[in-house]
Amino acid sequence: MLLSLFVLVACSGEAKHFIIHGETMGTTYQVTVLGDPEDKAVLAQEIDQLLLILNDIASTYIEDSELNQFNRAAIGEWHEVSPALYSMFEMALEVAWLSNGAFDITVGPLVNAWGFGPMGRIEKRPNAIAQRELLARVSYQHLELDLARQQVRKKQDIEVDLSAIAKGYAVDELAAWIERRGYENYLVEIGGELRVAGESPRGNDWRVAIESPDASEGVRAAIAVTDIAVATSGDYRNFYEEGGQRYSHTIDPRSGEPVQHDLASVTVLAETAAYADALATAFSVMGTEKTLKLAEQEGIAVYLIHKQGDGFVSKASSAFKPYEESL
Ligand code: ADP
Ligand code: MG
Repeated sequence: MLLSLFVLVACSGEAKHFIIHGETMGTTYQVTVLGDPEDKAVLAQEIDQLLLILNDIASTYIEDSELNQFNRAAIGEWHEVSPALYSMFEMALEVAWLSNGAFDITVGPLVNAWGFGPMGRIEKRPNAIAQRELLARVSYQHLELDLARQQVRKKQDIEVDLSAIAKGYAVDELAAWIERRGYENYLVEIGGELRVAGESPRGNDWRVAIESPDASEGVRAAIAVTDIAVATSGDYRNFYEEGGQRYSHTIDPRSGEPVQHDLASVTVLAETAAYADALATAFSVMGTEKTLKLAEQEGIAVYLIHKQGDGFVSKASSAFKPYEESL
């Protein structure tokens, strides 16, 4: 009896699995787990709970989030923060140093001034004087961490925005929770940042599609991956146009201006989703040439799509190539 049952499952082609989805952090999430579908309800509830907790820590949209409390806290004093907030700050500073400030979580005042933050859409460029004042407040070097005591302090009146790392961090936390529950094969995705482990229901690596920046063109590339995180940043989902000029939600913290170059989509593979997420935004600011140079130097797997004339051109770093599948 047991044997015939086993054969039945094997013949159906796909291993037993279930899918949980919902909304969080202003976007959608999806979790695919190989396991008994009867366990779905319990895991779904736990995931929901975990996402609520992480939102209460890192959201700039929740008035009383831990992050907003830190943003309002006194300058110059050391503050005790949760391990989650500390980890995000730490990872963010690492990427800030690596990218020479292209990635900078103190970008908050600029994000708001350009109308992409919790203050809502403005769709108008800030004037030059206001912009200069804002720039003076933006630098990751105004944020100081004390590793031994797990405390943080701001040396200036900064405003931290974790939007470019929080989704990735949440993906890592969900993955860790799922593993603690004993699952070894899963895919966790929040708003395009994802992490995969073990086997897909088809019994092989997980296939992940990379969309074309032009939605009508569908899938641009595919990768087969496992035990890794994948993050994509693009200027084609969140932007506005004013006076024929297109403004991206990705801002260069050094100039105070939304990025203008031709890089339309960046996909990064890394060990953790938080790191991949942050790197993808860093690379979006840096542009094609600087990104490829840094990626080769550091052995980072990255896939870029940039505009050329009316179409798009793709470029990949050496470390990315082994993952690419034919479509
Ligand atoms: P994407 O899919 O493009 O990576 P994310 O939501 O992950 O989108 O990150 C974009 C958000 O990150 C912006 O809305 C803004 O809040 C913040 N941000 C913009 N520019 C930077 C930057 N240079 N460094 C860090 N965070 C940034
Ligand atoms: Mg991102």
